[in-house]
Amino acid sequence: MPSLPPIHPDRLPELLRRMPKAELHVHIEGTLEPELILALARRNQVDVGYDSVEALRQAYNFTDLQSFLDIYYAGACVLREARDFEDMARAYLERAAADNVVHAEIFFDPQTHTARGVSMEKVITGLHRACERARDEQGVNATLILCFLRHLSEEEAFETLEQALPFRDKFIGIGLDSSEVGHPPEKFARLFARCRELGLHLVAHAGEEGPPAYVWTALNLLRVERIDHGVQSAKDPMLMQRLAQDQIPLTVCPLSNLKLKVFPDLAAHNIGRLLGAGLCVTVNSDDPAYFGGYMNDNFVQTFAATGLGARQAYQLALNSFNASFVSERVKRNYGEMLAGTFASFE
Ligand SMILES: [Zn+2]
Repeated sequence: MPSLPPIHPDRLPELLRRMPKAELHVHIEGTLEPELILALARRNQVDVGYDSVEALRQAYNFTDLQSFLDIYYAGACVLREARDFEDMARAYLERAAADNVVHAEIFFDPQTHTARGVSMEKVITGLHRACERARDEQGVNATLILCFLRHLSEEEAFETLEQALPFRDKFIGIGLDSSEVGHPPEKFARLFARCRELGLHLVAHAGEEGPPAYVWTALNLLRVERIDHGVQSAKDPMLMQRLAQDQIPLTVCPLSNLKLKVFPDLAAHNIGRLLGAGLCVTVNSDDPAYFGGYMNDNFVQTFAATGLGARQAYQLALNSFNASFVSERVKRNYGEMLAGTFASFE
């Protein structure tokens, strides 16, 4: 780490906003804003049950996981054609670029769409088109990670993988999301082994609400390269040691944790502790349209609540690049870009 210039605490939010960063944990369906839902509903003549942006935004004030999932799936119903998926991803990438996200590895949930009769081809080609255009139009390097819904069966996951393989060149890895408790990683051990043979990168949600045991099995049985969330790891000293030693990245999502009551308030979040223990922690937005903020909101609010400073800001941004699935050369370039921002900041 370079020697950092002294930065006044009042200037910290601006530094957080301006520093280049990577987003590694964002569900594209969770970026649907009410305005876009209603625009797509009109275009596709779908009745979403809300006729104004205000009414829909009101429904985003969900109170628990189930009411969140209800509105989440209702919103996804407006996605019918490839161009709908493209428009959704483009809206996210514009928003990410405004937060100085220069690299994004975006999750998508094909089963949410194929279950409604939308073809895998429409989902992937639409999202991929937005990624291809992102470098020129938004200045963001964007790739896709296909996530399996863990509350569904192993058999359904294998069927989904088969449907996606004709588009293997359009996504770089696979993940595991949806309700964690009661659906431990070992349920998908054979699926992950198969995806590993196919040369796909492997990640999984673990230790968000589920116990440290789920993080262990994600590492040892699924052999994932990153853990999504993972904040419950702090309950297990041996696990903390393993994560630090092997520098397994955790994609932490503070505002999501706050909204879903994983922590009672942001000041109680353990991100500072995880970072202090030498873990490769990153900051991410998860489902930003629903959880109260995109990347910079997560950084600024978390730093304000926990008292983290410029040194941790630098480390978190550097971690986001080191944890990404790009070549060592590209990681070095991103690192230099980050160092440049800090060196010239006043
Ligand atoms: Zn997530």
